[in-house]
Amino acid sequence: MKKQDLLDIKHLFSTPKHIVIVAHKNPDGDAIGSSLGLFHYLKKLNHNVQVIMPNDYPEFLKWVPGNNVVLKYETDKDTSDNLINCADVIFTLDFNAFHRTGEMETALANSEALKIMIDHHQAPDNYATYTYSDVSMTSTCEMVYNYIDLLNDTNLIDADIATCLYLGIMTDTGSFRFPSTTSKTHHIIANLIEKGANNSQIHNNIYDTNSFERLQLLGCALNNLKTIPESKTAYITLSQDELNRYNYKKGFTEGFVNYGLSLQGIVLAAIFIEDKQEGIIKISLRSKGNFSVNLMSREHFNGGGHTNAAGGRSSLSLNETVEKFISILPSYNNALNNE
Ligand code: 5GP
Ligand code: MN
Repeated sequence: MKKQDLLDIKHLFSTPKHIVIVAHKNPDGDAIGSSLGLFHYLKKLNHNVQVIMPNDYPEFLKWVPGNNVVLKYETDKDTSDNLINCADVIFTLDFNAFHRTGEMETALANSEALKIMIDHHQAPDNYATYTYSDVSMTSTCEMVYNYIDLLNDTNLIDADIATCLYLGIMTDTGSFRFPSTTSKTHHIIANLIEKGANNSQIHNNIYDTNSFERLQLLGCALNNLKTIPESKTAYITLSQDELNRYNYKKGFTEGFVNYGLSLQGIVLAAIFIEDKQEGIIKISLRSKGNFSVNLMSREHFNGGGHTNAAGGRSSLSLNETVEKFISILPSYNNALNNE
């Protein structure tokens, strides 16, 4: 962020404001962590702050400090629309375009509030007065830490803020292993632990709270795993029937796609999950090295994300979607085999 922007922001928040914080649909650890981390920080500055998520999120994210104050647009539409209309400032976190908020898109686009974007996705839209966008960042949580640091306020970071920010850095780095993780990330993590983030407990809350049914569904997903060696690709399918068989709940399939990528020699992994209610196949793509699943998803699956992690959707059937995926792979064979 420019120095002048920071001075302007410092001035803007020198008097109490009505602030709304929003993140993307189907919020993940980074969306929840960054929103609630920023929420606790802004509350300390005596602002009136409300976090609104487009829709509900998995149980394993419901222990996060401040979880009980989060509004969900899908079930609190009128209250949320009111808050958005009356807001002086709206922070948009962990997304790069209003359509990533689903049904909130219109309310956000019509709002006259000053917008501040903090995000690490590629190709950010240009709607915000202040845009802090950096694709090299591990997570929006790391950026919220930097934002607080740039405003010389790290002394305000308490255990609640530290816990929230630790969460999103941990989940978006695959527990500090993705290439985006830097020594600076580890320094920030060390600071957050010093401020009171209970690192072991946070890992436990996210990764060691599986239900028996989720592990059974993982077994089914791994049974469905297929590889295409000439394209260094692995993919998994899950049909609606399979999800139903294991009593699917939101968040069950989080992380499944990474098992494909853990196979030796695999550069590209995909998971195709049927959602009969929405009438779509939800697609998650992961890659190693320079192979951009963001571009692949933008070109073929109406989505986007980061170089090594992207999502998208298809309105074809599950089988047709997989056939389409297999049919486009040869055009990527050069890139995939040069990784
Ligand atoms: P996931 O596969 O875990 O749903 O998402 C991986 C990454 O891609 C996340 O950073 C997420 O924000 C982004 N992403 C997921 N789905 C979409 C989508 O439909 N459109 C765009 N632009 N990005 C997506
Ligand atoms: Mn993120």
